[in-house]
Amino acid sequence: MQMTHRPLEARVREALSNPDRLAAIRRAAVRFYENRESVMGSLPDAEATRDLARAIRAHTIANLDRYLAQFEDALQSLGGHVHWARDAAEACRIVQEIAEAAGVRRVVKSKSMVSEEIGLNRSLENAGMEVVESDLGEFIAQLSGDHPSHIIAPVLHLTRQEVGRIFAEKLNVPYTDEIPELNAIARRKLRDVYLNADMGVSGCNFAVAETGTVCLVTNEGNGRMVTTLPRVHVALMGMERIVPTLHDLAVMLQLLARSATGQKMTVYTSLITGPRRPDEPHGPEEMHVVIVDNGRSRALAGELAEILYCIRCGACLNICPVYRVIGGHAYGSVYPGPVGSVVSPILGGIPAHAELPHASTLCGACQEVCPVRIDLPTLLLRLRRETVHQGQTPVWLTLGMKGFAITASRPGRFQLAARLASWLSRLTGGGWFMGRLPGPLGAWTRFRAFPPFASHSFQSLWRKRHE
Ligand code: SF4
Repeated sequence: MQMTHRPLEARVREALSNPDRLAAIRRAAVRFYENRESVMGSLPDAEATRDLARAIRAHTIANLDRYLAQFEDALQSLGGHVHWARDAAEACRIVQEIAEAAGVRRVVKSKSMVSEEIGLNRSLENAGMEVVESDLGEFIAQLSGDHPSHIIAPVLHLTRQEVGRIFAEKLNVPYTDEIPELNAIARRKLRDVYLNADMGVSGCNFAVAETGTVCLVTNEGNGRMVTTLPRVHVALMGMERIVPTLHDLAVMLQLLARSATGQKMTVYTSLITGPRRPDEPHGPEEMHVVIVDNGRSRALAGELAEILYCIRCGACLNICPVYRVIGGHAYGSVYPGPVGSVVSPILGGIPAHAELPHASTLCGACQEVCPVRIDLPTLLLRLRRETVHQGQTPVWLTLGMKGFAITASRPGRFQLAARLASWLSRLTGGGWFMGRLPGPLGAWTRFRAFPPFASHSFQSLWRKRHE
């Protein structure tokens, strides 16, 4: 799941060095956010719907074992197969075994963040299979050897001119940056892939426990092609993506598209309930659902369980002032933005993602837009505390905070330190290190001045006043 070992600062510097991409990211994120704002008003009682959605998610996560077992029974009774994967390696092995048993040579995929998380493409390709992404964004990312920078809009960071150059180079077509023409090129290329693929791999936006249904939402219709044309369909599902009933699903769908792209409804909402029946002309002969844990049950047992309410809408990315400035790649993880800063350390371990909980201003905007009201700032603070407990804090910061605690916990020491700081301020006329802090603190004062300390402390002024 980890994508890079480079430090966050290096990744951010690289992101900031490409102003065209930063502008593209900002434009798209702001557009999604503004669309969300305008369409939320079309929901008769948006706030009550959000409360209801949160209650459904909380109840489901608190009873996850029961609903997953119910889903498994329901799907199996329809002829589907359910597999359980503890981690990424097991999930990849299961999919590979399904493919090999069915003699699969070519795999077509619709968008699935879980497949990115477990590294499925690489695994199947290493086993000698051809894997083709069919979501337009994922298709572009695959052609260019890139990876998604947003959980619902994978190539939000690319300009249409860049996409035109990628198509010209990789598909050997004349350059164009006209979006309808780019769409037509991708459609022509993918049509043949759908018709000749042996296996379709999809994600799972929601699974419905009472009916054994897998719900997929897409805007391009590729999800339907992937799940109906090939003879085998495999759906990858994070173990938290379940809702108890179809009625609960309807509540979630009212919020998902509105929060994600600002649509009232995603263009294609597909409910897949088992493989093709004997009397049906279309659909896969086999349907498999792989339920992936990969660290989620660790969160379930702890104080970060609330993140499992997430419905992966991406609204917290679109509003986040940090995401808007640095984009998704700088997070160095499959899941970027505020949700990713919580999910990535849970799934990939704190040592690999210790910097991410700090990549936030804690302004609270993410919590405000989250359709299920996840308290992301509190979860980020809990993770920051955990990084300290696990010794992931730089030595200078640990020593500095210890020094501050020793100084601030005794009035005498605190007053002495305040006098010393004030004396230094006077001595240097407010300059020296006051404008520019030394060492690692210098990053903070690179674009702002550190104000000089007051020449007299509040206490001394107070004493003087009452003498
Ligand atoms: S945390 Fe909330 S806003 Fe962010 S992706 Fe998940 S559901 Fe959407």
